[in-house]
Amino acid sequence: MAKTKPGVSAPKLKAGKKDLHSYTIRGTNKVVRGDCVLMRPSDIGKPPYVARVEKIESDNRNNFKVRVRWYYRPEESLGGRRQFHGAKELFLSDHYDVQSAQTVEGKCIVHSFKNYTKLENVGAEDYYCRFEYKAATGAFTPDRVAVYCKCEMPYNPDDLMVQCEGCKDWYHPACVGMTIEEAEMLEHFVCFECSEDDFKQFQNGFHASPVSDAKVESKRQKR
Ligand SMILES: [Zn+2]
Ligand SMILES: [Zn+2]
Repeated sequence: MAKTKPGVSAPKLKAGKKDLHSYTIRGTNKVVRGDCVLMRPSDIGKPPYVARVEKIESDNRNNFKVRVRWYYRPEESLGGRRQFHGAKELFLSDHYDVQSAQTVEGKCIVHSFKNYTKLENVGAEDYYCRFEYKAATGAFTPDRVAVYCKCEMPYNPDDLMVQCEGCKDWYHPACVGMTIEEAEMLEHFVCFECSEDDFKQFQNGFHASPVSDAKVESKRQKR
């Protein structure tokens, strides 16, 4: 499942190459420095490749080359796209390459996950990365992330979630028997477990029985 990338394998740089600080994308006034860029895929109709430019060089014939570190889309990873992967999710891989600068189509921004979730509007050029990815083994760093809801899934920023006022956990409307429309209308939400706890406390108050149902420690991994 080798990842295919645009063009033929990069020719060896000839003597006389020089490092450049920037490259202007052909037909635009966009200047690439150490930015994240979109690169023309080898298959027309596929989404552009995303990479981080590490170095820009030109040879003595003025051929521009970019040394890049690829971002992988979830579907390009060994494990494939999972339910919690967002549409704009990318993995920073350990896969480096040298490409002709002519395959650079545009610039983009790869946000940290936290910053991405704070964006008011997500533009076409906005992506996020929360995992590094080893292309050879398919391993992710970090290998554990916080999970939420009854389904115990990492957060997919494309999905609406509601927060319980009791336990502060976040829930998918569908997982607690609500539609998205219902969840959007909601002003207060208490999950089933928390509303049961409230009810038990109420009962205990009446029967004065000892509280035996000490809350089970959360098995969630938070990092
Ligand atoms: Zn859920
Ligand atoms: Zn709760």
